[in-house]
Amino acid sequence: MTEPSKPQIRQLLASTAAQAATFLESLDERGVAAPASLEELRGRFDVDLQDEPLDPQQVVDELVAAADRGIVAIPSGRYFGFVIGGGLPAALAADWMTAVWDQNAGLYVGGPAAAVAEETAGRWLIEILGLPSAASFAVVTGAQMAHFTVLAAARHRLLAAEGWDVNRDGLFGAPPLRVLVGADRHATIDRALRYLGIGTASVQEVTTDHNGRMDVGHLASLLDAADDPTIICAQAGEVNTGAFDPIDEICRLAEPAAAWVHVDGAFGLWAAVDEGRRHLVAGLDRADSWTTDAHKWLNVPYDCGLAFCAHPDSHRAAMAVRADYLVHAEDGGPREEMDWNPEFSRRARGFAVYAALRSLGRSGITNLVQRSCRHAERFARELSREPGVEVLNDVVLNQVLVRFHGSNADADAHTRAVVERVQHSGECFMSGTTWHGAQAMRISVVNWQTNDDDVGRAIAAVLAAHRR
Ligand SMILES: *Cc1c(COP(=O)(O)O)cnc(C)c1O
Repeated sequence: MTEPSKPQIRQLLASTAAQAATFLESLDERGVAAPASLEELRGRFDVDLQDEPLDPQQVVDELVAAADRGIVAIPSGRYFGFVIGGGLPAALAADWMTAVWDQNAGLYVGGPAAAVAEETAGRWLIEILGLPSAASFAVVTGAQMAHFTVLAAARHRLLAAEGWDVNRDGLFGAPPLRVLVGADRHATIDRALRYLGIGTASVQEVTTDHNGRMDVGHLASLLDAADDPTIICAQAGEVNTGAFDPIDEICRLAEPAAAWVHVDGAFGLWAAVDEGRRHLVAGLDRADSWTTDAHKWLNVPYDCGLAFCAHPDSHRAAMAVRADYLVHAEDGGPREEMDWNPEFSRRARGFAVYAALRSLGRSGITNLVQRSCRHAERFARELSREPGVEVLNDVVLNQVLVRFHGSNADADAHTRAVVERVQHSGECFMSGTTWHGAQAMRISVVNWQTNDDDVGRAIAAVLAAHRR
C-alpha cells in the first residue's frame, strides 16, 4: 500500500467529522449505558493483527463500528454518573486541533502558541476562581496529578523550613511530616501522598459530620497535639454530597501552626464563580494550594486537571527540570510548561481550556454552575415527594444522594436494584455508592447539555425503577 495522498487525508478527516456529528446527534435517542457485553466487545476488537498496512479510512470506519455498542453516552445531558462533564463544542473542536497541531507543550520551543494560550487561560482561571493573582498553576491530566503537583510543592516548602532539602536528600532521614485529612476526603489525596513517599502512618483523619464536612474542633485538637510540619487537606465539594469543609476556619487554625492548607476542589471550586454560592468557599484565597478539574464542570474533553499554588518558588523547585539538550527561555521569558508540571513531553491541554473559557464567557460559566445546581435541587425536591425515597444529603451544590426504601427488600438491596434498573433502562445513568454505611444513588449534574427535559426524563426513569 502506498502512503495516503493529501486528498485521501482530507477525505478521511471530513468523513470522521461527519461520523462525530452523527454520534453527537444520536445522543437524544441512544441509550446512556453501553449495551455491549465484554464478550461482544472482545469479539469485535480481538482480531489477529494483519501483516500488511490497512487503508486509514477502513481502519477508522471499522474502529467506529466496533466501538459503537461499547460507548457510554457520557456527552449526553442524561449522564449523571460519578462527576463527569461533557465537551463544550468549542473545547471539543480545539481539542481536535490540538491533536492535529501535535505540539509538544513541555517547552516554549515545542509549541509557542500552546505556551501562550496556557499562560492566558491560567491567568483567567486564577481571576475567576478568586485565587491570589500571584499564584502559579499547572495544567495536568486531572485532579489526581494536580494534587501530586502541588503537594510536592508543600513537601518541598515544609521540609525546607526545617532546613531539609528534599531534592538533594530525599526522604530518608527527613524530619517527619504529618498530613491531616477529612474522613471523607477523596481517594486521590491518599494516592498523591503515596506517590510522594508520605505513608499512611503520617496521615491523621479529622472526623466529619453527616454531610462529610470536617469537624474543625477535632482539627484544632489534632493541630495542638503535635508541632510536626503539617499539611491540611481540605475539600471543596465532597464527591458524594458536595459538602464543603469550612475553609476560612481551617486557614485560621493553620496560620499559627504554619501548616500548609491544600484544597481539593475538583468540581466544588467552581462555587466561587457564583455570587450566591461563593460563601461555600469563603477564605479560599487564604489557602496554599488548590486543585480542580477542567474535564468536570468546565466541560473540557478528557483529560484535563488544574493545579494552583500560592508559593510559585516552591512549586517550581518541586517540578523544574534541566538538561543540556533542552533550550530553556531566559528567566522572565515565556512559560516553560515542564517547570510547573510532572510531565516532560505533554499534550497542549491549554488550547481546549482556553476555548472553553472563551466560548462560555464569565456569565456563561456562572450560568452553567447555577443551572446545574438548580437541576440538582429539582431532583431532590421531586424525588423526595415519592413515598420511600429519601434524600440523604444537604443539597448545597450539584450532588444529590438518594436512598430507596422498598416494601419487599431492605433499603440497601432495593437501592442497588433501583440503580441497576435505571442504568439498564438507558434513559439516564446514575452511579451507586456507600455513604456512611448506607447504599445510595449518586446524582451529579455537571454537563453543559443537561436541560429541564433531561431532568424530567431522568426523574421519571428513577421513579419507575423504584415503583417496579
Ligand atoms: C473527581 C475527583 C477527584 C479526582 O479527579 P480526577 O480528575 O479523576 O483525577 C478528586 N477529588 C474530588 C473531590 C473529585 O470529585
